[in-house]
Amino acid sequence: MSFLEVLTQADPRALRARVEAATAADVERALSSAELTYSDFLALISPAASSYLEAMAQRARSLTLQRFGRVIQLYAPIYVSNECTNRCVYCSFAATNDVPRSTLGVEQAATEAEVLRRMGFQHLLVVSGEAPRAVPVEYFEQVLRRIRTRAAYLALEIYPLETAEYARLVDAGADGVTLYQETYDPEIYRAVHPAGRKADYSWRLSGLERAGEAGMTRLNVGALLGLNEWRSEAAIVGLHASWLTKRYWRAQISVSFPRLRRGPKGYGPSHPVSDAALVQMMTAARLFLPDAGIVLSTREPSQLRDALIPLGVTQMSAGSRTEPGGYSVPCEEGAQFDVQDRRSPEQVAEVIRKAGYEPVWKDWDRVMARPVAAA
Ligand code: SF4
Repeated sequence: MSFLEVLTQADPRALRARVEAATAADVERALSSAELTYSDFLALISPAASSYLEAMAQRARSLTLQRFGRVIQLYAPIYVSNECTNRCVYCSFAATNDVPRSTLGVEQAATEAEVLRRMGFQHLLVVSGEAPRAVPVEYFEQVLRRIRTRAAYLALEIYPLETAEYARLVDAGADGVTLYQETYDPEIYRAVHPAGRKADYSWRLSGLERAGEAGMTRLNVGALLGLNEWRSEAAIVGLHASWLTKRYWRAQISVSFPRLRRGPKGYGPSHPVSDAALVQMMTAARLFLPDAGIVLSTREPSQLRDALIPLGVTQMSAGSRTEPGGYSVPCEEGAQFDVQDRRSPEQVAEVIRKAGYEPVWKDWDRVMARPVAAA
């Protein structure tokens, strides 16, 4: 059964009703359970749980220490292209926006990877828009083969591919895929993705399944928070991550909670997400998915990132540039979004150390096994 079928059977409206109906007793029962069910997770993201944030934070902290120890793994994105045929209304790279476009040559991408390697990064996330003519699968193969000796771990945040195409990128050195559904609500999805390949909701939704089938060993799921009411999105992010964990049991599943920033033409979140809501989602995810990675990017401001370190986060980006070639030649005009935490990687590492954690630049080696789907 695909995740689309799972989601249809679960019925997002029914899930939302269960979140709203959760009581303080449901929250307390979830907080005292050794192993949480999906119903417990729904209780923890409910309005009733918003007055239990301190207890949730304490449990999330101790569970993360048990499962991951005092470490935060650091990574950096490499934007290789900002060309895009899609028209996502919230994104400055949308085809309708007038921004300087560029695609890095393979050697330019290698230069970016080398700059990051000198900063200490061993985990790199290759990012691009969806422009198969400018950045076909062959392009990613070449980039990955060229830079894989400069990094211990390579992930992709690119457009969804066929299983065979993902398999080619596994062969070329890719270890993981980040693919956010943006919003799990089909109507909102249609409204914010009016044209281009990305308008196909189910093609995108099934992308991580194809990546898992192809042998990617880390799968990162999430929604772009602010497009829809956050509890509806969080309920399905939790369901999706849990389903992927069971199906691709050898892969590490991670969750992200990126919040939409004000973008092109003043487009901003129609459903703003507060810091407290972010903490509630993140800590609920930790309690429900104790072995999942939780990723925190430089979209969030430094003060909040520092406060979130002990609450379940396992991976953080640092020193990020969101324009192609930005580590070698910074150019704000071609950037995807404003980075909020502008500190250098070493400054972020120092904050992590001061919080009592160890910043880890490498926690992965490709000799580890590839995932196999459950029957
Ligand atoms: S969000 Fe991605 S697919 Fe959409 S316009 Fe931006 S770069 Fe293109």
